[in-house]
Amino acid sequence: MGLHLAPYLPLQHGDIILLGAPGAGKGTLARLLQSKHPHRHLSTGDLLRKADSRSFSLDREIAALIDKGEFVPDEMIIRMINVNVADYRDVVYDGFPRNVNQAKLLDELNVQRSRKIHRVIKLEVGFTLLMQRLKGRRTCPVCHRIYHVITLRPQRAGLCDRCGERLKVRKDDHPSVIAKRLDLYEEQTEPLVKYYTDRNLFSWVDGDGSPEEVYARVRPLLTT
Ligand code: AMP
Repeated sequence: MGLHLAPYLPLQHGDIILLGAPGAGKGTLARLLQSKHPHRHLSTGDLLRKADSRSFSLDREIAALIDKGEFVPDEMIIRMINVNVADYRDVVYDGFPRNVNQAKLLDELNVQRSRKIHRVIKLEVGFTLLMQRLKGRRTCPVCHRIYHVITLRPQRAGLCDRCGERLKVRKDDHPSVIAKRLDLYEEQTEPLVKYYTDRNLFSWVDGDGSPEEVYARVRPLLTT
């Protein structure tokens, strides 16, 4: 009986950080969390891509870094977060922080803005599945919705269900760039596991499964 009640426990207040390699499903889970919870989805990757597709484009050097799968400077990222976090009580960060320096800058920002991190959750996904997901990923250049050629097809082939726009392969989802991004993740982002374990904020879940299955594993972590 108690087990059935567990999913209905109230959520704790505070921000959520999603960790996991590219292709682990952070964006999909963050969108699902946003649809079910008061949390606002903040993806630094989406913010950068959006800035690049509006009337003004991103600085050419910054756009080139993204296309090559490299990180953009920490100062630019933290400025973006500072501006975008202001309107929301609780957010779910997707793709941020990406290294220990960004995590420290976030800690400072949280003190200034009286915010707190409730939990840091890593989605664990094996290498073979990550590669399958990244190679088959298609994204809508307008609304940034994510599809997959096998597991998450749009209703009309090649077109976004929401805006009808032609789906694209992100430049940084090409195989040579994928390898670079996975290496950077291991080298720069994985140390955050220790950073947040030391602060008693870290948990991980198995990221293999449908979005709803992964969400069911994450939900209990948000109530305690
Ligand atoms: P994502 O959509 O999270 O995979 O991000 C796409 C790209 O945007 C990354 O490969 C980086 O070039 C850049 N980017 C996104 N978030 C960050 C971040 N927190 N720090 C540095 N670069 C980032």
